Amino acid sequence: MAKRVYLFNEGNKDDRELLGGKGANLCEMTNLGLPVPFGFVITAPTCREFFESGNKLPNLLEQEYRVALDLVEKKMGGRFGDPDNPLLFSVRSGAAVSMPGMMSTILNLGLNDEITAGLANKTGNPRFAYDSYRRFIQMFADVVMEKDGEHFEDIITEYKKAHDKPLDVDMSAEDWQAVIAKFKALVDFPQDPFEQLRLAIEAVFLSWHTPRANVYREMNNIPESMGTAVNVQAMVFGNFGDDSGSGVAFTRNPSTGEHVFFGEYLFNAAGEDVVAGIRTPEPIDALKERMPEVYQQLFDTQLLLEKHYRDMQDIEFTVQEGRFYMLQTRSGKRTGRAAIKIAVDMVSEGLISEKEALLRVSPEHVEALLHPMIDPKAKTEIIAKGLPASPGGATGQIVFSADEAVQTEAAGHKVILVRRETTPEDIHGMKVAEGILTELGGMTSHAAVVARGMGVCAITGCGDLSIDHNAGTVTTAAGLVLQRGEVITLDGTAGEVMLGDIAKVEASASEDFKVMLKWADKYRRLKVRANAETPEDARKARELGAEGIGLCRTEHMFFEAGRIQYMRGMILADNDDERATYLEKLLTFQQQDMLELFEVMKGLPVTIRLLDPPLHEFLPHTEEDIVALAAQIGKSPDSIREAATQLSEVNPMLGFRGCRLSVVYPQITEMQIKAIIGAAIDAAKRGLNPFPEIMIPLVVNVREIRLITEIAERTIYDMFAKHSVSVRYKIGTMMETPRACLGARRLATSVEFMSFGTNDLTQMTYGFSRDDAARFIPAYLSKNLIENDPFVSLDTRAVGRLMKMAISESREEKKGIKYGICGEHGGDPSSIRFCHELGLEYVSCSPYRVPVARIAAAQANVMANK
Ligand code: PEP
Ligand code: MG
Repeated sequence: MAKRVYLFNEGNKDDRELLGGKGANLCEMTNLGLPVPFGFVITAPTCREFFESGNKLPNLLEQEYRVALDLVEKKMGGRFGDPDNPLLFSVRSGAAVSMPGMMSTILNLGLNDEITAGLANKTGNPRFAYDSYRRFIQMFADVVMEKDGEHFEDIITEYKKAHDKPLDVDMSAEDWQAVIAKFKALVDFPQDPFEQLRLAIEAVFLSWHTPRANVYREMNNIPESMGTAVNVQAMVFGNFGDDSGSGVAFTRNPSTGEHVFFGEYLFNAAGEDVVAGIRTPEPIDALKERMPEVYQQLFDTQLLLEKHYRDMQDIEFTVQEGRFYMLQTRSGKRTGRAAIKIAVDMVSEGLISEKEALLRVSPEHVEALLHPMIDPKAKTEIIAKGLPASPGGATGQIVFSADEAVQTEAAGHKVILVRRETTPEDIHGMKVAEGILTELGGMTSHAAVVARGMGVCAITGCGDLSIDHNAGTVTTAAGLVLQRGEVITLDGTAGEVMLGDIAKVEASASEDFKVMLKWADKYRRLKVRANAETPEDARKARELGAEGIGLCRTEHMFFEAGRIQYMRGMILADNDDERATYLEKLLTFQQQDMLELFEVMKGLPVTIRLLDPPLHEFLPHTEEDIVALAAQIGKSPDSIREAATQLSEVNPMLGFRGCRLSVVYPQITEMQIKAIIGAAIDAAKRGLNPFPEIMIPLVVNVREIRLITEIAERTIYDMFAKHSVSVRYKIGTMMETPRACLGARRLATSVEFMSFGTNDLTQMTYGFSRDDAARFIPAYLSKNLIENDPFVSLDTRAVGRLMKMAISESREEKKGIKYGICGEHGGDPSSIRFCHELGLEYVSCSPYRVPVARIAAAQANVMANK
């Protein structure tokens, strides 16, 4: 069997898979000679073994870690289980990827009645010894024995009340001893330190499967098979007295990316107190003032770590009786703005290359940069101020719990989750919230770290507010009482809370962002187009770097008020003449819109899809609309109702739509071609070099393409002859049905391009309705029946396989066909990576996703050539 236990001097930072991120970094820091309390790591593969054998620790594991433990004792100069010279341990989880706060931790392990008395004696600090013991019992009972922590808190609260000792600091050693006696009446916890250790290791492994860890893994696409390592590390104490404390720091500002050392420190507190946000910490300068040598050591350490890892680090440290200890380093979570600034700065500092810089930016980072910000001019009444934990602007109704957030959001309302502090149990609520507001906690509290990671706007440490969950109210410092359901706005960039819905402005891209996008363009092969049909969207797309339009859904041009009645009139026409008059009208609108698109796109390709949706989608639904339409088109409301009934379909998604409309109503297609080519002729006359690509949707065989191409070409040549001009154009098809992919070889003979419409292709490959899948996909995900939502990340095994086959067979038939993708997957980074591998020419996505796609395309290329 492979080695299962590694001492901190036996691994290094590259052993993440084996030792977990935390373990690997503890080893690396030990090797760097930093003051890390010594310990050992039980590997992540041991966690898999544990689960595979029905939650049993491997037979020889205990023997193996006892050897390691002996060596730790030698190094630390204490003994585990020895009342005269006790050594205590922390037992923590740590997977290959960071899952902050999702799994279990036990501190002060190794205490029992006798050893606590010994610790009191040895340290001369009985209050500290008994406080540590009661904390240990609480944690052990909670994590290992699954005894609800609230029972213990109730005992403490009652005791404090009865003895008139409101604060923890009022409690003496004797008080804690009395509380411990009550705790022990509640749980029968093991006195044997080795039994404690074994149970704690099992509990950490088991915590891999807690519901919150499962949700976190699902949200972050972390495979379940990864498992967690267990870190067993000698304890040092930040709560030993005033010359002790704990802190969390970042080597650069995680919110703005500024190159300044940034941290928070709590005097006389355990590390957990800082991370949990139970007390609001002081800025790191407080440490500089009171303990300058310790601060210097910390400062030098963070410099060394950042240079060594060549990335911004998030570090945790403890000071015990004036001695500095490093407990953790990891790559720091950061806002989008910070991620881009840090990456660009690090290239100028010579720390990383441009290609590495590109790999440092996640799609969420780019998105966050594009998020709305509060309009400074619109700012009105600021009712409270807190810490600017995660930037952006957000508006929503006040809710007080994660469950309430989920319910209110499901009912169609935007929510702001207001909590005293958040814990990992709140994750489902944080996920759906527009913004998060907490009364307690610093910039490194759970709420702040998680919100930044999700790109959700957040304000923490908002002490101006007092929250009463039971009454469902928040009261501001000025006495203003806000009720559940009231609308507030958060400015996460400034840390300000405002009443009502405040206007926001679109994010303005920074210079650093432009630099990053320039590098993306330098290193990518895939082109990026946008799905757009209005001139505004097209302009936005160009601004964000789109290299053409990959999908213009022409039906969207007819939905506007002032136009829709003509579309409806055309659908409801009793005869061809009547239909022709409405088509004339529609032609005018469509041609004008096309012309504008050609103007904006200045010679770049514009892929225009022929009408796609089922016709009944255009018809009015409300009585009021039916009556109004009847008056507009001179028909009776009854006839409209009847037509609507006739047009309604059992399975509209599989029904009378796509190119099937052209087959039955060739005159609609003729009108559309006239509009496209008419606009192209106008544009060409103005020297705009238009490049229309006519796209036929939802095809199942080549005969459909031939039929429609014939209608199109007849119309096109008529127009060229009439105007004595010729413009370039292409005719191609959308690959949206499995049959089209299966028959791609034959389709190839009649097309110049193929664009994969992976929304419909996924729908038809799975037989999952696009419109209804949201009802069951969450259950499929939580029950592990599928790994990802196939409508978000391309299913490379099935849909991808169809694409691959379609490309290779059509390419064999005819060279020179261009391939693209225009389903929602065109903006999804993992799908983009697959499209890069497939050798598509372009991906097309919504305008705001264009920068994400540019970066993802570059990342795909950099990774492929690594
Ligand atoms: C698709 O099916 O992937 C597509 C882009 O078309 P639509 O979403 O309009 O059906
Ligand atoms: Mg489609």
